[in-house]
Amino acid sequence: MMNSSVITIGDELLIGQTIDTNSAFIGQEFNKIGLWVRRRVAVGDNYDEIWKALDEESKESDIIIITGGLGPTADDITKPLLCDYFGGKMIVNEKVLAHVHHLFKNVFNRPGPMPESNLKQAEVPNCCTILHNETGTAPGMLFKKNGKVFISLPGVPHEMKWLIINEVIPYLLKEFKMPAIVHRTVLTVGQGESHIAALLKDFESTLPTHIKLAYLPNYGMVKLRLTTFGTDKEQTEKEVEPYFKKLQETVKDFLVTNEDEGLEVVVGNILKSKNKTMGTAESCTGGYIAHLITSVAGSSAYFNGSVVSYSNSVKENVLGVQTKTIERYGAVSEETVKEMAAGAIRTLGVDYAVAVSGIMGPDGGSEEKPVGAVWVAVGCTAKTETLKLNLRFDRKRNISLTATYALNFLRKFILKNETDVF
Ligand code: AMP
Ligand code: MG
Repeated sequence: MMNSSVITIGDELLIGQTIDTNSAFIGQEFNKIGLWVRRRVAVGDNYDEIWKALDEESKESDIIIITGGLGPTADDITKPLLCDYFGGKMIVNEKVLAHVHHLFKNVFNRPGPMPESNLKQAEVPNCCTILHNETGTAPGMLFKKNGKVFISLPGVPHEMKWLIINEVIPYLLKEFKMPAIVHRTVLTVGQGESHIAALLKDFESTLPTHIKLAYLPNYGMVKLRLTTFGTDKEQTEKEVEPYFKKLQETVKDFLVTNEDEGLEVVVGNILKSKNKTMGTAESCTGGYIAHLITSVAGSSAYFNGSVVSYSNSVKENVLGVQTKTIERYGAVSEETVKEMAAGAIRTLGVDYAVAVSGIMGPDGGSEEKPVGAVWVAVGCTAKTETLKLNLRFDRKRNISLTATYALNFLRKFILKNETDVF
C-alpha cells in the first residue's frame, strides 16, 4: 500500500496562531483516492528542522507533501531549502513570471505597481516540475529523489486546495495504483462514548483485524466509523456491509444517521423531504442553533429565521411571551419556552419551531436554577413538547450541548408527528 506524509511549515502553526487546516484537507482528499496519510508533522520556518523532517518522512513514505513557507518574504525559506536538498539551482521560470504579472495586472486589483519581491515567486529550482497555481503567485513544485515523490505547495489554504484538486490528485492517480479505502459512518446522539463502547463490546470482538472501528465523540454525539482497505472498491464495500448493518442495529436506540453528516444536515433533509419549514427562538444559545442550520447549503428551502430573544423584553415584545408567565415562572422555565415556541411559529410563519432558554454560566445560577439548567420546547401549531436539560459544564460546552439536544429533540418530534395535519 502507498503511504504518504504531510509536512506543514510555519512558526505560526507551532505557536497556535494558525490552526493547521491544510493537513486535515489533504488527509480527507487523499483518503478519497486510497492514499493513506501515515504521519503529519508540523515544523517551524527553520532550515535544519525542515531538512530533518524531509529526511525522516521520506524514509517510510512514498509521497511527501509539504505546505507553507513559499511566500516572497524573508521568513519563508522552504524554496531555497528545497533547491539545496535536491541539489539544484534557482532559475527564473518564464511561465510562472508571466502568471505573476497577469495576477497583479488582471486579478488582484491592488493599487500601485507590483512590489519587486514578487518577482522572486518566479524563481524555482531547476530540478523540479512546476505545478501551475491558478490562484496565487507561488507555484507548486514536484521533486523526485530515491524513488520518492516530494510535492511542495503554498501554505495559503485556498491556493493549497486548488493545487491538491487540480494538479496533485490527477498526477497521483495517473502515476500510481491506489487501493480502495472504504469508510462507513453512523452518528449517534444522546449517549456517552463509554456506554456506546459497552454496547459494542461483542460486536467489536467479531470484527476481522483488517476492519477497524473508530469512536469520534463530540458534544453529546458519537460518530462510529468502520474503515477497511482492499484492492477492489465494490468488493471491499460488500465485505463491510454486513458489519455496518450489525453496527447500526446495535446502536439503534441512539442512531441518527448512517451517513457521515451532522445533525443539522439530518434535520434539514427531513424538513426538505416533507416540504416543511422551521425557525428558532433562542435565548441562551444566542442564535447558535440557527447558525448550525444555516451552515448547510440550501437551508433557505426550509429555514425561515430566528428570534434571538436574549432579553425578557424581546421574549415579550417580539415573541409574545406573557409578562406574567416570566414573572411567575422565570425566563428559564417550561412555561416560558412553550410560549417562545408558539411565538416563533406565529412570528416566523413556520411549521416547526424550537425554543431554548437556560443558564449557560459561569454566573447567573441559583440553587433552584443552577448553571446548566435549560428548558427546550419544540412545537408545531397542533402541539408542543418540552425537555429539561441539566448540563454541568463550561459555557461553550453547555451551548454546544444545548444545540445538539435541541436539534435532536426537534428531529424526533418531526418524525413522531409526521402524520399530523397542518
Ligand atoms: P506561507 O506559505 O508560509 O507564506 O503561508 C501563507 C499563509 O497561509 C499564512 O497566513 C499561514 O498562516 C497560512 N498557513 C500556512 N500553513 C497553514 C496550514 N497548515 N493550515 C492553515 N493555514 C496555513
Ligand atoms: Mg510562512
